[in-house]
Amino acid sequence: MDAFDLVIENGTVVTATTRFAATVAIADGRIAAIAAPGVALPARRRIDAKGLHVLPGLWHVHCHFREPGHTYKEDFESGTRAAAAGGLTFCIDMTNNTPHPTTLETFEQKKELVAPKAYVDYALYGGGLYPRTVEELAKAGAIGIKIFNTRHVKEVYPYITELGVLDHGILYELYEAIAGTGLVGSVHHDDTEWVKRLTFRDYIDPGRTTARDYHESYAKGYMYGHGMVAGLASSLYYARLTGLRLHVLHLGVMPVGAYELLAHAKFELKQDVTAELETASLFMTREQADKVGPAAYLWASAPEAGWDSVKSGVADFLVGEHAPHTAEEIEGGWQDNFSVPLGITGAQEFIPLVLDAVNRGRLTLEDVARLCALHPAQRFGVYPRKGALEVGADADVTIVDMNAETTFRKEDMHTKSGHTSWEGMQVKGMPVYTIVRGGVVMDHGAILGNPGDGHFTPGIAAAG
Ligand SMILES: [Zn+2]
Repeated sequence: MDAFDLVIENGTVVTATTRFAATVAIADGRIAAIAAPGVALPARRRIDAKGLHVLPGLWHVHCHFREPGHTYKEDFESGTRAAAAGGLTFCIDMTNNTPHPTTLETFEQKKELVAPKAYVDYALYGGGLYPRTVEELAKAGAIGIKIFNTRHVKEVYPYITELGVLDHGILYELYEAIAGTGLVGSVHHDDTEWVKRLTFRDYIDPGRTTARDYHESYAKGYMYGHGMVAGLASSLYYARLTGLRLHVLHLGVMPVGAYELLAHAKFELKQDVTAELETASLFMTREQADKVGPAAYLWASAPEAGWDSVKSGVADFLVGEHAPHTAEEIEGGWQDNFSVPLGITGAQEFIPLVLDAVNRGRLTLEDVARLCALHPAQRFGVYPRKGALEVGADADVTIVDMNAETTFRKEDMHTKSGHTSWEGMQVKGMPVYTIVRGGVVMDHGAILGNPGDGHFTPGIAAAG
């Protein structure tokens, strides 16, 4: 028998439904065998996973790596390095770039620009702005189409004002065009005029603008609250009319009404809709938000509804959100948080925070394998090549130590932004190996891979 490239032995393999002791053998970048424990397999390299859990490579489908155009705060290299350090094998990057990837030309430019930089595998959203360009973005390999149905009260989000699609006629035409490609349409919902009117009336005009005031307005459901639910309601209806495969972003931030609308659409109307639970909101405490001020724009409006949605199936994936800004950009937020860009770090912190929630009994490791690997891979059409530890699949593996503890400190972060929204928070449960197509990219925090090792993964409508 030829030696395998890598054998992972003595660990507990975790799938979306179960766990068992096994040896995992990897050859030519694929899972070659999953054998009973104790079977001695010849190998060029071995990992002793005694006491560790061996999960399918974990995904983060909501990354803003800021390339092109805003690379002073993150770029594809630093962002995917943070992802590798955080146990992620696959990332999907968002579209609020300059130039934004809303045309064939700018999408191809972005593809070319980021290809030599990625440490882990990745896919790119096409930007949803012009209905007539959707088909060519799909053919060029977009994994889905991202739409910002929102514009910040002071236009500091989505940073590129023109990306906000507020006109429901255009939104509808985008849905028609995306439905025609078979791709998922992923939408940040909002009702911008409602948010703007009430936020100006009660906060900005009376001069109540500090980070604390902002947090109060957020708690009231002004910023990223009820307007999002209202936006979701009309979007679900337009998606039904057009046959769009809708994917709802930012569940977790939204009030309980969003969960009710989604449950109705999914379970009663049997609509083809999925949602990602933004776990950053569930892990961000009020104390931490007060401590980091403008480095945190959220906490859960309805935390119990968020956790329940994992069990009920209203939430389909977990995401961390990774939307970094530099400390200088957000510093002014202590005085006027309505005028600075809103964001949070998460590429490196997401999986440790999720594992900590497992240790606290909020989730199981099977939930993690399902919601951070299997479901996103299925929804974006990449399963069974990715998303599960199965023979023949890409050998993407995340190995975790549920007993390892860490305290987040900016010094340990790979993000270019120079800070972490989770500064000082302590978690239990850490990824200790990140393996992409059989290559060990991270080993106990040390980055072993190289930029360019990560491969572009096209969506289901890619030509050729
Ligand atoms: Zn985002």
